[in-house]
Amino acid sequence: SRNTEIKVTIKDLLKVFIEETKPHQLYFWLAVFGSAVRAFGYVLLPVYIKKIFDVFLLQESKEILIPVVFKLFALALTIRIIGWIHSNILFFSLSKLESKVMPALKRRAFEYVTRHSHEFFSNTFVGSLVSKINKFAKSYELFIDRFIIDVVSTFIQVGSIIYIVGQTSYIFSLIILCTACVFIFVNIVFSRIKKPSDIHANEVESKVTGYLADSIANNNTVSLFAAHDFENENFRKETKDQEIALWKKWSIGSLLDGLQGLVIIVGDFAVLYYAIVLWEQNMITIGTIVMFQLFMSGLTIKLWDFTRVIRQLYEAYADVYEMMHIFKTPHEFIDQPHAKKYIVQKGTISFDHVNFAYNAQGNNILNEFTLDIQAGEKIALIGSSGAGKSTYVKLLLRLYDPQSGSIKIDGVNIQDMTLDSLHLAIAVVSQDPILFHRTLMENIRYGKRDATDEEVYEAARRAHADEFIRKFPQGYDTFVGERGVKLSGGERQRVAIARALLKNAPILILDEATSALDSESERLIQDAFATLMQGRTSIVIAHRLSTIRHMDRIVVIEEGAIVEEGTHEALLKKKKGIYAKLWNMQAGGFLKEN
Ligand code: ADP
Repeated sequence: SRNTEIKVTIKDLLKVFIEETKPHQLYFWLAVFGSAVRAFGYVLLPVYIKKIFDVFLLQESKEILIPVVFKLFALALTIRIIGWIHSNILFFSLSKLESKVMPALKRRAFEYVTRHSHEFFSNTFVGSLVSKINKFAKSYELFIDRFIIDVVSTFIQVGSIIYIVGQTSYIFSLIILCTACVFIFVNIVFSRIKKPSDIHANEVESKVTGYLADSIANNNTVSLFAAHDFENENFRKETKDQEIALWKKWSIGSLLDGLQGLVIIVGDFAVLYYAIVLWEQNMITIGTIVMFQLFMSGLTIKLWDFTRVIRQLYEAYADVYEMMHIFKTPHEFIDQPHAKKYIVQKGTISFDHVNFAYNAQGNNILNEFTLDIQAGEKIALIGSSGAGKSTYVKLLLRLYDPQSGSIKIDGVNIQDMTLDSLHLAIAVVSQDPILFHRTLMENIRYGKRDATDEEVYEAARRAHADEFIRKFPQGYDTFVGERGVKLSGGERQRVAIARALLKNAPILILDEATSALDSESERLIQDAFATLMQGRTSIVIAHRLSTIRHMDRIVVIEEGAIVEEGTHEALLKKKKGIYAKLWNMQAGGFLKEN
């Protein structure tokens, strides 16, 4: 739905490109200058060659002609060398400009994309996002190259050729002008017709890339489910779409090529025919005919290039269309204009009559949810799967905003504080933490980027991570593999606990692992959790009853509302209570979900 609301135009793209080019505009203008002078050189050269030919045909003695020819020769050579120098200015400036701007564009895309919401990332393939960012930066190269090398020089060349041939007969100018106009017109019309299919082809391409990345990332699962044939079949469908999209895109391109060839033939022969007519009337020299031929063949090449340019510009636009769309999608969660930096000291949390649904039409996931948590209190949230426990956490982290009701920390509405201050106040240890493909040292230090090595070791010791880290040959310099795959679940969780210890936030959210760990790592993790919870407001999403007996309060949630709360002992006393029932059913074991 959102997709249809946002319109991306070429103006949006140019705005971004111009903004990023501005700081380096010296190189831009140098390149334009180089390209312009070079183009003049290309036009002037045939003029001097014509003059040389005209001299050859004069009925004078060689002694008189030779100095004249050599003078013209020297002039032609000078023009050629000036052209060569400017050609170098052009390409060096372009290299400098593009090497500055392309990384800047990537930075811009990165900075914008990473500020998008949790929801955005839930709905977007990582692989296709990466490919969009790359294509976006790459397209700048194409745009600038084509604009400066081709557009600038084509206009100068065509313009001055029209002027020069007009000196002989304006009819020539007219023929060339018409040919060029028809040519470019046909091109623009076709490129416009082709644009939707370019954009479609790119969307399909992004989908294929996304599918590829997702499937490959899950390849272990694919094998374990013996699903290779299934995946192959799905992938075949995706690539089939691509076949159709590419055929559409390219066949329109070929049709255009055909038409343009025809325009060129007509223009070429019209000039030749008219030259013959003038020759018959003795109105034109051999030198002039040679010059026209040189002009025409140069012009034909130029126009062909130019049409390719227009097409490429349109294609590049299609390439960046998706990225521009992301740029124009406003960040879902931005700091309110009045939001303040706020340092959370105590860590009281209150939910007051919060109502929330993931989508406007959908069911309420939280219903009039009200819960006050004191500073330093330790709360266990339990309830069947789908009850709304994680949703509670997501709202507290402001990954979503509630439809009504308020959420306050230390008495301040979380919408009135900046997102950064909110997120600095809360440490989260999820049940299956994902780590950066960086060293263990860097992963732990992420909790406090200026921590000393000693502080990192200390945190790791307290989290019981130090012992297993030291066993790796490379210790803290060990890379953990993409998403942390080289560590076991328990190890990853202990790294995440160490990271949270360093972060030292007043509020802590723990998502207990649902799967059983061996009793040794279970003991280590529980111990690390206990260390981490000291002196912090802690919310534990609990899956096991055994681990929550000592919490200050146990909150039982069903269908987005609190149905019971109290200490372990108090809840057990309610013989008909849900908690008592669960406890009796599986004392010490896992909570049965569903
Ligand atoms: P719990 O953590 O208690 O198992 P959750 O809070 O994760 O439950 O989920 C509560 C309900 O919200 C579930 O029915 C789930 O399907 C739904 N839900 C969770 N995330 C989303 C989402 N991003 N979009 C739509 N519905 C969601």
